[in-house]
Amino acid sequence: MKVFKFGGASVKDANAVRNVCDILSLYKNEKIIVVVSAMGKTTNLLEKIIETKNNLEFEELKKQLFSFHQKIICDLNLQKETFSMIEKATNKLKLSYKIDKKNNQAIYSAIVSIGEYLSSNILSCYLKKQNIKASWCDAKSIITTTEKHIDSSIIWPLTQQKFNDIVPPLFKKNSILVTQGFIGKNKLEETTTLGREGSDFSAAIFAYCGNADGVYIWKDVPGMLNADPKFFQNTIKLDQISYREALELSYYGASVIHPKTIKPLHNKGIPLYVKSFLEPKSKGTIINSSKDKDRLVPSFIFKHDQILFSIKPKDFSFLVEENLSDIFARLSKINAKINVMQNSALSFSILLDRRKINLNEILSAFREDYVIRYNEGLELVTIRNHDQKTIDFVTKGKRNILEQKTRNTIRIVLKDLKQ
Ligand code: ASP
Repeated sequence: MKVFKFGGASVKDANAVRNVCDILSLYKNEKIIVVVSAMGKTTNLLEKIIETKNNLEFEELKKQLFSFHQKIICDLNLQKETFSMIEKATNKLKLSYKIDKKNNQAIYSAIVSIGEYLSSNILSCYLKKQNIKASWCDAKSIITTTEKHIDSSIIWPLTQQKFNDIVPPLFKKNSILVTQGFIGKNKLEETTTLGREGSDFSAAIFAYCGNADGVYIWKDVPGMLNADPKFFQNTIKLDQISYREALELSYYGASVIHPKTIKPLHNKGIPLYVKSFLEPKSKGTIINSSKDKDRLVPSFIFKHDQILFSIKPKDFSFLVEENLSDIFARLSKINAKINVMQNSALSFSILLDRRKINLNEILSAFREDYVIRYNEGLELVTIRNHDQKTIDFVTKGKRNILEQKTRNTIRIVLKDLKQ
């Protein structure tokens, strides 16, 4: 059995859906679990819908969601089969808009999951129409999580048990099973989500439970590259890397794979293939246990729009374990995700993504007991397998604000001198 994961870009319009169907026909007679994300940028749109407090804007965004999916189903000639489904989904939005937003994490997951339900239904209807035998499966009936609604953790024994109960009978009927990435359900029967871009992780969960012989992540790039082609001209494809190297790269922010994907695959020795949905027959990248090719090329990971905070105890006391744990507790309470941290005798520095934080929330979490300052407009560059040439290349014309270096990895916080 294989697990295929198709992200938003690979189902962004009718042609992309047709292409998924073509890829599946290359793997005839194989048992495949197809894990699909929301189409195009639907999850971002749903997040906007959740956030808006303005009724007019809500109606406008809802219309966008409706017509985006309507166009795809019309282009695929699926009107009859799927039209009522989009209507139902948009009505669900209406209900959520009216209810009290107090428990907004639960509402968030219930609403964003609509994107994956729409895409998986559209894809499975299209496959059936093309005479590809596929069963639709609700990921929530298998993936069981802790109660937390966002970034939920998996309860593995229950997930495994449900997988064993549900998946083999479905495979007896059809060799393809279409399901949703990103979503699960907690013991209270509420929808939960696994974190943005979490569909890769869903694919790994299904692969782990089914002892798959491979996970295939289909992307719009030829494989795992040594840098993001949006920021870097001459990228090199990594033909093969180890689980460890893939985990390090995704942890530092290489956006090709969700960092949580690797562990379940590593634990069962299941290879992960990153392949191009535009050139499905070309080789892509294979991630497995072999470390032979890990050090062949330097890899670069850029994070823009970073903000560096320096936090100092007000009474000029040393930073010791006690106040460090207090700082971490405050950060975790507001869900701040740290990209880099460093301490000196009197100050603790943390680097965060400007777009993922609420500045006032951070400042007010500390102001009473600490002096907190910040420096905006920074860039974080991580280089794996660095040498002086690569360091000079990324730091050219920029001021080095903070640097951390080990044998394999260097992380540099930079300020553009032109700013
Ligand atoms: N649709 C979700 C997101 O955009 C999950 C995923 O695509 O992996 O984050």
